[in-house]
Formats: sequence, C-alpha cells, structure tokens
Amino acid sequence: MEGFIYLDYAASTPLDPEVEAAMLPYMRAVGNPSSIHAAGRRLRAAIEEARNTIAELIGAEPSQIIFTSGGTEADNHALRGAVESGLVSHILYNPTEHHAVLHTIEALVRQGKIKASPLLVDEKGRIILEYLETELRRHSRSLVAIMYANNEIGTLQPVKEIANLVKEHGGYYLCDTVQVMGLGWVSVSDWPVDFIAASAHKFYGPKGVGFLYRRHPIQSLITGGAQEREQRAGTENVAGIVGMAHALRKAYENREAYESHLRNLKQFLLTVLSQRLPGAILHGDTSVEGGHPGILNFRLPSSIADEMLVIHLDLAGICVSGTSACASGSGHPSHVLQAIGVSPEEAQRAIRLSWGKQTEPAHLEATISALTSALQITI
Ligand code: PLP
Repeated sequence: MEGFIYLDYAASTPLDPEVEAAMLPYMRAVGNPSSIHAAGRRLRAAIEEARNTIAELIGAEPSQIIFTSGGTEADNHALRGAVESGLVSHILYNPTEHHAVLHTIEALVRQGKIKASPLLVDEKGRIILEYLETELRRHSRSLVAIMYANNEIGTLQPVKEIANLVKEHGGYYLCDTVQVMGLGWVSVSDWPVDFIAASAHKFYGPKGVGFLYRRHPIQSLITGGAQEREQRAGTENVAGIVGMAHALRKAYENREAYESHLRNLKQFLLTVLSQRLPGAILHGDTSVEGGHPGILNFRLPSSIADEMLVIHLDLAGICVSGTSACASGSGHPSHVLQAIGVSPEEAQRAIRLSWGKQTEPAHLEATISALTSALQITI
C-alpha cells in the first residue's frame, strides 16, 4: 500500500503476505481436485483440510461449509436455495442489508417465487425486535435476513436474540457475517443461525472466494459437476480456499489484539473528529464499544457533494468510500442511510472510513487534515 493512505478496509483488506505464501504452491499445482490420480488427490486433501479448519473455527461440521466465489454468492445461495427448496414461505428482511441480499430478494419476488416484507430499524439502524416478533407471528416459516454488522455504518445487530426469536417462531435465519468474520466473533454453535455468509477478502485473504455455512442442505445455486457434495458445481478455487482458511485461522488466533487495535483507532478518530470537524454528523451506532470497531460513517454540514470530498481525498492520496464499494458509482444515495432517516441529499455527503491492521493514528489524522483543507478550498 505504498504511495497512499488506505482507509477502505470494509471494501477489501490487503492480502496478508503469509496467506499469499500459503496459496502460492496451489496456484502452481497441476491437477484437478476431482481427479482420482495423485495430483488430484493432493488438491482434494488441501480443500478438505481448509474445510475442516474453517468448520472448527466457527463451530460447524465440515459438511455444513460450502465454498463459494465470495459473500455475494453465499447470500444468493442461501436465499435462492431456501426458497427453491420450499423450506420457507416468506422473507423478512432488514432494509439495511447489503445489495447481495436486497437485490436477490427483489429478484425472487419479481419472479413470483416468494413474498417478502421489510423489517423496521431505529435511527441507528438496529432492528426493532418487537416488530420482528409481530411479523414472525404473522408469517410462519419465514426466512429472516439480518446481517451481523452493517458494512456502511458499522451498526451491530443483537444476532443471538434475533436467532432465538426466529427459532421460537419456527423460522430460518440468514446472517450475513461478511464484516465481522475477521474479528473472530462467529461461532454457530453458540446461536441457532441457519445460514451465514463470509468472504475472504474482508479478513486479509484473497478476493473471489468465500463460504456459506448452512445448517440444512438446500438446493444448489450452480449446477454442473458433483463438487461440494453436489451443492455447488464447478472446479474449486483451490489456492483461494487454502488462503481463506489460513487467513481465518490467523484472524481467530489474533482476534483480541486485532479488536483492541481497531477500537483504539476508533476512539482516536472520534476524538480528532470532534476537535477538528465538530460539525460532523455521525451515522449509525458510533459508540466505541457498541458498533463495529473498524468502521465510521459521517457527513459534513456543507453543500459539497460526497463524490467531491472522496475525490479531494483521492487527490491527496487517501482512499475512502462515499458509500459501500458496491453502490459507489451507481449514483444512488445510500439505501442504508435513507433507512435510518438521512435524506437523499444528506446521504450524498456521507463518508465511510474503515481501517485495519496496517492503519496508524497518523493516517486518520492526515485524513481529517485533508478533509478540513478540502472544505476550505471548496467553500
Ligand atoms: N455482504 C456484506 C455485508 C458486504 O460488506 C459485502 C462486500 O462488501 C458482501 C456481502 C459481498 O461480498 P463479496 O465482495 O465477497 O461478494
């Protein structure tokens, strides 16, 4: 990351050099993991070892892990698979989910495969549990989609309480854990969750690989060969899977130090922000203990559009997002911010800073300085 300050870890984290080294032999290895000869068997063994590692870390059975091309595919697989297997008859969803969830639900509804209703959130983006309970009573066999941590504003949901409520009412729970997997917080044996989605490039692993945990077998999303116990066809991304398992093991081993590094930076950023840009309006659950320790979203009280500020920072060599990486460039104000009562015009002025392993307080300070000078230049 030489040459710029990178504050967009929620979009993607840098590949850990140790993970890269673990992947290299598998990038070069000849053979197809489905072949029965020695070259194939060696790759198959590496995939199964990675599956065992991931399952053990998150408290699952190896057979409950399906490797995917990332978080988007894992969310798609859970939603489409649950609907098409006839497991569920309604979807209840958090309106601040990632588009991987929202657009998939929209497509299923448009195709007439299921009906879906949004849940209610408060001004910080937390699910209103009483409303969830009312909706669970109204719709039997619901699939409830509520993420662990929001990727734009960092708000955390009370996932254990939600899972227990969903189970009491005979529903199924999909929890997108993409933004928290690297914090080592997820253990599916602790709470009755049915599906979780994860993505390696959010925890210092490679891009283009992730996994779905599913408690129950569901219909496959991609058909073809018999890979992944006929649940996900296609030759496996062996190097990616090996790298992901390595990255996750490291994340779980170092979780306490990592979390406290992130929290200290958050505390520092909140202090600098309140001193240097006291007019900044924070979005979501921005408490150091309550929200995601590595994400902060705020807007500035001026008429400068977010795109402009993001560009000013980019020119100053600082990479941040105006919204989630997937929505930026779409020109649409963030659906997450609008769901918590921010107007479309205000939402255009939001900035998300997200930090990680390589971030130092000086990077955050330099970013706030660049923001203050950008504001003076353009006002
Ligand atoms: N879910 C959440 C909460 C995310 O933040 C992201 C990526 O930003 C995804 C899903 C999609 O993951 P991937 O980039 O691996 O497709």
